[in-house]
Amino acid sequence: MAEHHKVLVIGSGPAGDTAALYTGRANLKPMVLAGFGKGGPPGGQLMLTSEIENFPGFPNGGIDGKELMGRMQKQAEEFGATFKMVDVERVDFSKRPFHVSTDDTEYTADVVIVSTGARSRLLGVPGEEKLISRGLHTCATCDGAFYKKKKVIVIGGGDSAMEEGNYLTHFADVALVHRREEFRASKTMLDRCFKNPKMTFKLNEQPLSYLLRPNGTVRGIHVVNTKTKIESDIEADGVFIAIGHIPNTDLFKGQLKMNEDGYIITGPWAGGPDGHPSSYTSVAGVFACGDVQDHTYRQAITAAGSGCMAAIDAERWLGEHGG
Ligand code: NAP
Repeated sequence: MAEHHKVLVIGSGPAGDTAALYTGRANLKPMVLAGFGKGGPPGGQLMLTSEIENFPGFPNGGIDGKELMGRMQKQAEEFGATFKMVDVERVDFSKRPFHVSTDDTEYTADVVIVSTGARSRLLGVPGEEKLISRGLHTCATCDGAFYKKKKVIVIGGGDSAMEEGNYLTHFADVALVHRREEFRASKTMLDRCFKNPKMTFKLNEQPLSYLLRPNGTVRGIHVVNTKTKIESDIEADGVFIAIGHIPNTDLFKGQLKMNEDGYIITGPWAGGPDGHPSSYTSVAGVFACGDVQDHTYRQAITAAGSGCMAAIDAERWLGEHGG
């Protein structure tokens, strides 16, 4: 016999936790299937960062990522949300109530809010995840300010790498390391970077591994030149990796409409109220929020904001269609 909930939230980053807080306060008793590591840690990408200085409300140095996520969960629980640290294995959105399965439990729900986030593409070096926030970073807006008057490496040759590199020059000297001579980045972005006196380019260099200090923090990268095959070290105070993101949407393939990069399509064009930005997906009663549907802003605060939108959309939709 399946366990039924009015609202199931899949994923527990800022988007999912905010959706749980709002639906909890609306007395909908949401169940949050918070993840257990498949698409990243429960709590999402903020669990991999240290100080967060740009989430409003935390002056005097910001707040630790894990602490922020702990507080968000606690606040949602205070309003009746239940969190379970489990990975969802299967979903069936073909009819209502929707079916969602974990290893040991079958759930049904009147409404599902998808907030499984996205993860940064990494080099694939063993132990790399553990270096995040220990000299290795995946978000310049989040962590760039820690490198005032320092030297950083940005890895990548797409628009993200150019944008991150350019932004980082507000603080630091940037060496952009790319594995080819040609770039995926747009000409406008490239031109801006080429003109930036604080940026230098190291091309045809494929990163192989990270250089570590005795305390285990990152002090640069070890690369191989793809033309000469010569290996060398590039030293820096920190490394920002910008080689793309992967939305955690495998679970929803064939169930929800996605763009060519696998991000869930939301908005009025996905079936929501005409003319309004929204969290509606291609399936009525399934809503999506946070980085799983946003490849542009990718900030904790924008994810939290879209979690609020999903909760309000879900609550109104339940009001109209019943549970
Ligand atoms: P992307 O365009 O896919 O570029 C990824 C870059 O990382 C490529 O240069 C790729 O090298 C490199 N790369 C991938 N795997 C690597 C590895 N293992 N080792 C070393 N290098 C590796 O990704 P993105 O830059 O994140 O952009 C994603 C999308 O968002 C794009 O459509 C982009 O235009 C868009 N975007 C737009 C803006 C904007 O307009 N403001 C800003 C950011 C992103 P190769 O080129 O050799 O494959």
